[in-house]
Amino acid sequence: MQKGKVSVNTENIFPIIKKFLYTDNEIFLRELISNATDASNKLKMLSVRGEVKGDLDELKISVNIDEEKNILTISDNGIGMTAEEIDKYINQIAFSGAEDFVEKFKDTKEDANIIGHFGLGFYSSFMVADKVEIDSLSYVEGAEPAKWTCEGSTDFKITKGKRKTHGTDIILHINDDTKEYAQKWKIQELLNKYCKFLPIPIEFDEKIVNEVAPIWKKNPSELKDEDYIDFYSKLYPMSEPPLFWIHLNVDYPFNLTGVLYFPKIKKEIDPNRNKIQLYSNQVYVTDNVEDIVPEYLMLLHGVIDSPDIPLNVSRSSLQADGAVKKITGHISKKVADKLAELHKADFEDYKAKWHNISIFVKYGMLSDDKFYDRAKGICLLQNTEKEYSSIEEYIAKIETNQTDKEGNKIGLYTNDVDKQHSFVEAAKAKGYDVLLLDEVIDNHFISNLEQKNDKFQLKRVDADTAGKLIDKDEKAESVLSEDDVTKLKEAFEGAVDKEKYTVVSEVMSPDESFITITRSEWERRMSEMGGMGGMQMFGQMPEKYSVSVNTNHPLAAKVIKAKGDKQSNLLSHAIDLAKLSQNLLTGKELSEFVKKQMASL
Ligand code: ADP
Repeated sequence: MQKGKVSVNTENIFPIIKKFLYTDNEIFLRELISNATDASNKLKMLSVRGEVKGDLDELKISVNIDEEKNILTISDNGIGMTAEEIDKYINQIAFSGAEDFVEKFKDTKEDANIIGHFGLGFYSSFMVADKVEIDSLSYVEGAEPAKWTCEGSTDFKITKGKRKTHGTDIILHINDDTKEYAQKWKIQELLNKYCKFLPIPIEFDEKIVNEVAPIWKKNPSELKDEDYIDFYSKLYPMSEPPLFWIHLNVDYPFNLTGVLYFPKIKKEIDPNRNKIQLYSNQVYVTDNVEDIVPEYLMLLHGVIDSPDIPLNVSRSSLQADGAVKKITGHISKKVADKLAELHKADFEDYKAKWHNISIFVKYGMLSDDKFYDRAKGICLLQNTEKEYSSIEEYIAKIETNQTDKEGNKIGLYTNDVDKQHSFVEAAKAKGYDVLLLDEVIDNHFISNLEQKNDKFQLKRVDADTAGKLIDKDEKAESVLSEDDVTKLKEAFEGAVDKEKYTVVSEVMSPDESFITITRSEWERRMSEMGGMGGMQMFGQMPEKYSVSVNTNHPLAAKVIKAKGDKQSNLLSHAIDLAKLSQNLLTGKELSEFVKKQMASL
């Protein structure tokens, strides 16, 4: 029998390990099963190379519980260890790993999750066990079984073991505080969370609990659409089927496999529902992929598997990590390629799917310049006639009729065809095209389009009267004399709240509307930014509108002619009607207007 101390100067390591990972202590099972998987894979490799005598038994990991004695045993029939190897790997190497971990993290306040990502390895078993035993027999011919026992202090002993076949039993005497780890339901839950797709069969409660060859490890050519859809429902039971998917498969310069799905994204974004799951060699690591995957890609679902993503570092250094950057770059490129492929293969189908992916595409274009460049050709703009074009096509399309005197191409849009109906119609009557930009993200997307496209501006249809939306320096003939125009303007100025409304006279066609109330594009954008908490100081400004009076309208002369009460009635009626048609007449004003109308019936 060999006795000894695992290391010097580290009397306090076990209490620290225990306390440290208390919240995330369930990861011990993942660590132990990963070790068992490695031991199995190593034996398989040696066998392939002809270094193992005789035929291999089927490789398998068994998890057993003795609920009465609170014992959890994880057994594999892998490579095994001799007494010397236990001493080397467990007493020295693994211990120093655990020691490093404690050294590094003992004073940090980082959240438990990162610590959970740390490959603490074998010693994480002491988070949940008072006593741990290793019973192992090496695959090497003539090896003797060896047993290591440690009771959560730095003392260990190695004695003769009992195993008759190669492999290792890790026997955990679960401590009283964490008794659930010696209960079936809990272990079942953890196996389901961490080990569902592990590459070696895991037997628990007389059943194999995992799928050894998950879809992302297979060759796409072997797979049918149903396989991808089935897998999706395995990952996210009860979810609506995905729109399409991307199979990732890279082995150079980094290792990455996975399947990413495009869900149907509705108007509101709910990134917390189904999350991308991160695996490392088929072992589940986390669904907290924020720092590995850019935010817009988090709208996707599925699995990524990469042993190259370092899990044992803090969040900030993860974002700076070269491998992580390359991986995100790769994913973003693949996503753009897939979109381009769908766009090219069947444009009708792509159009049909567009509303489910547009938020994603726009979000990506906004947050990543590279993605903007990759996606600009497949990002669709839709007009009120339900016609679709790419950004470039659209700008070319409006160039002839919608360029202002400064050479700016002015795109017009509505975010609500119903509410802005009269404006949409007025713009169309001028032969202008009107885009429909009604998604939450469009406010930001509009500025982004303007930044990225030289001499291109977007204006909402109600930002001005149709004649002034695109300033072409065209002058119409006025029917009224200059004097009458001034009189008319003054009359209206007397009838509105000057703090809020500025009256402008405008020479328009007689069949255009008499009064148009507008809010400039700039004004509205600033106040919307304030509303979104972006620029507080602009948020404080009162809403300002323009009241445009069409001096060529037949009613203009009538107003000028009218005197006293008759004129004020005409004025307020005209203004109310203008407000009414533009959804600006609300609350008290609306009630009073209705009352007045009723009285005149
Ligand atoms: P890591 O797995 O990160 O190397 P661990 O502390 O988990 O660190 O394990 C230390 C070493 O002990 C392993 O590298 C391996 O050589 C050995 N080991 C652990 N578990 C087993 C096992 N079930 N079978 C064979 N060897 C094992």
